[in-house]
Amino acid sequence: MLREHLQIMTQDKMTEVINFFNDCDKTQPFSIHNISKIARKEYGILPGDWYNPSQISLILSTLNQSYLENKINLSFLIFNSGNLFFDQIIEVMMNGKGVTYCNCPAVKKQLICDKCNNSERSIGLVLLTRIGLDSPEEKYLHVLGEMMKFKQFKGVIGGKPGKALYFLGLHNESSFIYLDPHYVQTANGDIHQIKQSYFCGSFRTCKAKNIDPSVGISYYLRNLTELNQFYAEIIKLRETYQDDFFIWASNETPSYLTKSIRISKCF
Ligand SMILES: [Zn+2]
Repeated sequence: MLREHLQIMTQDKMTEVINFFNDCDKTQPFSIHNISKIARKEYGILPGDWYNPSQISLILSTLNQSYLENKINLSFLIFNSGNLFFDQIIEVMMNGKGVTYCNCPAVKKQLICDKCNNSERSIGLVLLTRIGLDSPEEKYLHVLGEMMKFKQFKGVIGGKPGKALYFLGLHNESSFIYLDPHYVQTANGDIHQIKQSYFCGSFRTCKAKNIDPSVGISYYLRNLTELNQFYAEIIKLRETYQDDFFIWASNETPSYLTKSIRISKCF
């Protein structure tokens, strides 16, 4: 997501993104030390313990908010319990600027007119939900598979019981492709020397029905045009799958609900 947001396409430039995760430089946002510090403070999680999708999403969002958000104009929005409220996405993307309402012909089918409005921020969106009680339900897995086909899809934070994994996509409709970066490696502050250690050398697959039902589905929305595309995809799925569509999407946040979750700044 960061690579796409910063439009870094060459291997050399990738070092800039990887350095955000440098464990030997305490000024970098996503070091293991920073992640562990917030995990311990907010959730009492010890190093080596399992982080569920909600916890790791909120921790990464908090670190982004503290270190990067204003520098790179990328904000994270985390919705829980299968909720998705588009007014909150618009508010963050517009950075609090009021929306211009218009009568442009295209706007009838859009969430917001992307000709008369300009976004100031891009969004990393995480939709936290459960797609079953003890194990995922078949009907929901099918819908999740469809949600993984969106152009803006960036992966599913999830796992198998007791194991955190990152699902990138589908294989043969019934298996998920995943990355498992859990290898112990020698610490080294020289990113140029250990650049390759930040990549998974291979991917694996697992049967979709064997994953943990708790998932965080992530998307990257660069601008209002991409938000409109994402909105159209969500509405299409809701019309197609009706009660089996496990995301409760609404244009407005109901007054009885609080805004999307963010944990307090820790620094
Ligand atoms: Zn317009």
